[in-house]
Amino acid sequence: MDRDEILHYLKTSNRNGDLFQKADETRKKHCGDKVHLRGIIEFSNHCCRNCLYCGLRRDNKKIKRYRMPPQEIVALALKIARKGVKTIVLQSGDDFWYKRKTIASIITNIKKQTDAAITLSLGERPLDHYRNWRDAGADRYLMRHETANPNLYEMLHPGKSLIERLSLLSALKDMGYQIGAGNIVGIPGQDLKDLAEDIWLIKELDSDMAGIGPFIPQKDTPLSNCPPGDLELTLRALALIRITSKNIHLPATTAVATLDRKEGLLMALKAGANVIMPDFTPQRYSQKYQIYDNKQNITLDMAKAVIFKAKRETGKDKGDSLKCRHYKRHPEA
Ligand code: SF4
Repeated sequence: MDRDEILHYLKTSNRNGDLFQKADETRKKHCGDKVHLRGIIEFSNHCCRNCLYCGLRRDNKKIKRYRMPPQEIVALALKIARKGVKTIVLQSGDDFWYKRKTIASIITNIKKQTDAAITLSLGERPLDHYRNWRDAGADRYLMRHETANPNLYEMLHPGKSLIERLSLLSALKDMGYQIGAGNIVGIPGQDLKDLAEDIWLIKELDSDMAGIGPFIPQKDTPLSNCPPGDLELTLRALALIRITSKNIHLPATTAVATLDRKEGLLMALKAGANVIMPDFTPQRYSQKYQIYDNKQNITLDMAKAVIFKAKRETGKDKGDSLKCRHYKRHPEA
């Protein structure tokens, strides 16, 4: 499928479900029936950046900020692993209060006590931080590219550039991380051509994973009055990424579950997704992680119930990348 075909499918309503069926077949052929669980800990909602769409932006003075102490993060990670979830996702805003060494010691402490994979989602840092964390045992790094349109990127992320973002993703890949790109669907200023470029970029990056979520406004941001992204368009984008990037890991995202609390996760699983990310952040913190409004809280039970309903099986292993460069690196994967 080339760029023009992607654009054609983005423009065409998928009323008869053909696109989702093709994505589901591609998922089955290249990834199998397992749905991998990734347990998230949102350990800090402080952020030094000012992205226009995000409730954690530094200019949002209304949000109550928190930081989890390192020992609490480690204890929670071990608890998640004991529940059989074999990937721990450590996520925060771009929060430099946690020094390079602090994060490295959290990683080492978790890795000493469990064989779970560690995914980091800590934003943009100097390369020596990434290197140090990889040496400490981190396996994966999520850093969505957000939009493949460089002008829109700069508008949404004051002081930052898409080139810089992509060069960090490429450096992470060179360090041996499994990388996760991804984008927002329906962000103000985006058109369908931009979205087609997002899908193409994910394929070109040969990304191990990608997170695709609709834009959802947050009441204390400059984009508070903008309408949310369209759910069906988000699912079409997800399906097209599955078809073009084949063996990539694709989560049924929390943002999709927020737009349709009843059916969102199931619809995403049927449109090509093969990952769910239950949130284990203690409630006293998670209620303050307001990246957008009314964020759905995906629990482990909820994730398992949806997997059962989709007639799929819960992955029991780490669910490492299916890309061949990682098979070379980890022959046992
Ligand atoms: S999107 Fe990420 S980097 Fe941007 S303000 Fe939100 S938490 Fe910070």
